[in-house]
Amino acid sequence: MARFAKRVRSIEPSPTVRISDLIAESQGQGQKILSLAIGEPDFPTPAHIVDAAKKALDNGYTKYTAAPGIRELRAAIAEKSQKENGIPAKPENVIVAPTKHTLFMTFMALLESGDEGLIPDPGWVSYAPMVTLAGAKPVPVRAADEDGFVPSTETVADAITPRTRLIVLNSPSNPAGSVYTRAQMRGLADLAADHDLTIVSDEIYEQILYEGEHVSPASLDGMFDRTVTVNGFSKTYSMTGWRLGWLVAPTPMYKQIVKVQEHTITCATAFAQKAGVAALRGPTGPLKVMVDEFRARRDIVLRELKKIDRLATNRPSGAFYVFPRVDVGVKSALLAERILKEANVAVTPGSAFGDAGEGHLRLSYAASRETIVESIRRIADVLQRI
Ligand code: PMP
Ligand code: GLU
Repeated sequence: MARFAKRVRSIEPSPTVRISDLIAESQGQGQKILSLAIGEPDFPTPAHIVDAAKKALDNGYTKYTAAPGIRELRAAIAEKSQKENGIPAKPENVIVAPTKHTLFMTFMALLESGDEGLIPDPGWVSYAPMVTLAGAKPVPVRAADEDGFVPSTETVADAITPRTRLIVLNSPSNPAGSVYTRAQMRGLADLAADHDLTIVSDEIYEQILYEGEHVSPASLDGMFDRTVTVNGFSKTYSMTGWRLGWLVAPTPMYKQIVKVQEHTITCATAFAQKAGVAALRGPTGPLKVMVDEFRARRDIVLRELKKIDRLATNRPSGAFYVFPRVDVGVKSALLAERILKEANVAVTPGSAFGDAGEGHLRLSYAASRETIVESIRRIADVLQRI
C-alpha cells in the first residue's frame, strides 16, 4: 500500500477548482448550470496576444528558455513594475512562472518547518494549503465584514509570534473585492518592518479596479527589500489557460527562489512568454472594455442583491467578486449545495475562504448580465424557501 506524506494528507482539494471541474462535467452531460462560481474572466484572450503566440511558435519558440524567463519579457515586467507600480524592479529581480507557482516557490524558499505565515481570512483558497505544503503553519488573520475585508494592523499585530516569517496581502482581494488604502498598506508595511517579516503581495487583480488606487507595498519607502510581489496575465488579459505570471523579489530572495524554479518547472512555456510581451507592450483597449463591463456588472449585481432581505452585501472596489452575508442559519457549504441542486446555480461557499468566510457566499460576476440576473433571481427563490 502506498503511504502518503502528512503535508499532502493534511490539505483538501481546491474548492474553486473542484467546483469548476464539476460544472464542466455536468455541462458535458447536457445539464444547464448557471455559474457564478468561477474566478475566470469570460472574455477571449485579445487577438494581438494570440497572434504573438502563433508567430512565436512559427519562429521556433518551442524550447527551454532561461530559467527566470526570456530577457524581453523580464524587461517589460520590470518596466511595468517601475512605471505603473513604483516598484524599483530591474529585469534581474523578475521570475516568470504561473502565478500560483510563484506563490508556491516563495513559500518554499522562505518558510521552514515550525514557521508561521499570516494569511487573510477570508482569503483566497490556496494560500493556506501552499503554506502547509511548504512545511509551515498558516495562521489566519481575520479580515471580515467589520474591517471592510482588509486586515487591520491591530489584528495582524495580535497574530504575530516569534515564529512569524511572512504575511500575505491581496489587494484587490479574492473573495471580497476589497481594496487596501495607501494608509492601510503603509500601516501593514510598518508592522512588517518592525517585526522583520516578509510581505508577499498578491496583486493579480491589480487592473480590475473600480475605485481608489492600487498600492504596491514594494513601492513604499524601505519596503522593496522585504517584499515579494506576485502578479500575472490570467485576469488582466483573460489568459487563465496560458499559465503565465511573474514575481518580483529583491536579489537575496530572488537567488533562493530561482533555485526552486530551476528544479521544478525549469522555465515558463516559451511561446506563452512571447505572448506575455505582446500583452504588456500592446494596446490596452481590450482591458478597458473588460473592466468597464465588470464595473457595469458589479452595479447590476449590487442592485439585484439589494432586493433580497436576508442578505447584506459589501460594495467591492475591485476584482470580480461579491461576498454577501446570508443570514438564513444554514452553513454556507450546505447553502451552496442547495442552490446548486434546487436552482442549478453554482456559487462558492464562504467557508471555502476560511472560518471568517462562514455565513457568506462568493458570487463571481465573470458571467453574462443575463446569467447574473437570472442566477440571483433563482438564489432569492431558494432563500425564500428556507
Ligand atoms: N491569487 C489569487 C488571489 C487568485 O484569485 C488566483 C486565481 N486563480 C491566483 C492567485 C492564481 O492565478 P493563476 O491561475 O494565474 O495562477
Ligand atoms: N482564483 C480563481 C477562483 O478563486 C480560480 C480558481 C483558483 O485558482 O482557485 O475562483
